[in-house]
Amino acid sequence: VMRYFDERCQGSRRLAERAQAVIPGGVQHNLAFNHPFPLAVAKAEGAHLTDVDGNRYIDFLQAGGPTLLGSKHPAVRQKVNEVLDACGPVTGLLHEYEVKLAELVCSVMPGVDMLRLLGSGTEAVMGAVRLARAYTRRKWIVKIGGAYHGWSDQLVYGMRLPGTGRMEAVGIPHGVTGHTQECHPNDLEALRRKLQWNRLRGGTAAVLLEPLGPESGTRPVHPGYNAEVRKLCDEFGALLIFDEVVTGFRLGMGGAQAYFGVTPDLTVLGKCLTGGYPMAGAIGGRKDVMMLLVGGIGTTARRAFVGGTLSANPLSCVAGYYALKEAQRCDAAGVAGRAGDRLRKGLDEIIQRRALPYVAYNMGSIVHLQTSGVLLMDTGNLYKLWRAKDEAKARKHMMEEMGAAYTAHGLVTLAGSRIYTSLADTDEVIDDALNRFDDV
Ligand code: PMP
Repeated sequence: VMRYFDERCQGSRRLAERAQAVIPGGVQHNLAFNHPFPLAVAKAEGAHLTDVDGNRYIDFLQAGGPTLLGSKHPAVRQKVNEVLDACGPVTGLLHEYEVKLAELVCSVMPGVDMLRLLGSGTEAVMGAVRLARAYTRRKWIVKIGGAYHGWSDQLVYGMRLPGTGRMEAVGIPHGVTGHTQECHPNDLEALRRKLQWNRLRGGTAAVLLEPLGPESGTRPVHPGYNAEVRKLCDEFGALLIFDEVVTGFRLGMGGAQAYFGVTPDLTVLGKCLTGGYPMAGAIGGRKDVMMLLVGGIGTTARRAFVGGTLSANPLSCVAGYYALKEAQRCDAAGVAGRAGDRLRKGLDEIIQRRALPYVAYNMGSIVHLQTSGVLLMDTGNLYKLWRAKDEAKARKHMMEEMGAAYTAHGLVTLAGSRIYTSLADTDEVIDDALNRFDDV
């Protein structure tokens, strides 16, 4: 594996070394799990990437999820160029595509009556939490342990630093996270106890969760879990916030909420919302809650403030509108989902045949390939809690050794353990990928 990087990736290595001097860690994007150094990309199209040294890869990172149509989809790019020619990147006034994108999202997402576009998933989660607190006039937020909701002070707390098991809390004063609580995934009793405890102390504003389970299903939740959380939220008067930054449009146009048949009060969107173009973030939700962004229905008395100079710029909006239109027209989530099924079945076959201590599972186009140190598999039950002690070690192994080995065999993955399929993943691409995984 290391010979591959030494002999075939000289250009990437040189750029990575230059970057070390001026960019902390040598790469701007935090998906820099890349071991031994990140690939420098020269081209990306559909299901493939080419690096600056001319090596070609099957792209299962897909930028961390947003490019459901595959890289550089022509239908979207052409429309973006038209808007860019007409009015440049931003004006600060209203643009038709702002309305069209909001209308489209409201028409497909069961829980979204209104939409507020923001700059990123992180911002949108912050906004949703603020809205929930403004609406309920309560302070407690309960999130699920291990989930990622962006890097804002009050929510990054509890994320484990890979390889250390320590809390990701550096630079965050204790008080900031003082009203953020965590429950284990699947533990409904613990959630009920938290809600009861909070009820005696002002009440819970919202339960915030990723509907596939923490980190896009890295710790999967039971299929009935979301509906049970919905019931608990109703019982305790808390809002339910779905973080659909990953699942929105990728599990289907209606996101995880349509997939599970559970409607949240607020939905956080990102990634696929703008088809991979910049400024991907939005809060959607019930009209009575959303109207607090301007002070409430028929009043300006209690405004929950959010902002952003570049929010809802015409480029993001036109990109999002045509990316989602195209996804709807050709059932991108269905096609990518079937590619995910085919890949997972093939991985299963390799795991069985070679008796590997791995597990592969998928929800549509979100495919996980992990070691049994990450997911505790006793009794074959995927929904058992993970073993925290071994987790950090197993993750580091997947991220570094396995991630590098996949790359050296022409497969770019997310941290060596997650795979995003796209509309561009034909049967031929998946079968090619399976041969490469088998070689690894
Ligand atoms: N929520 C989830 C579930 C995510 O996966 C991410 C990003 N990976 C975020 C929020 C944050 O989104 P962004 O990176 O756009 O700030």
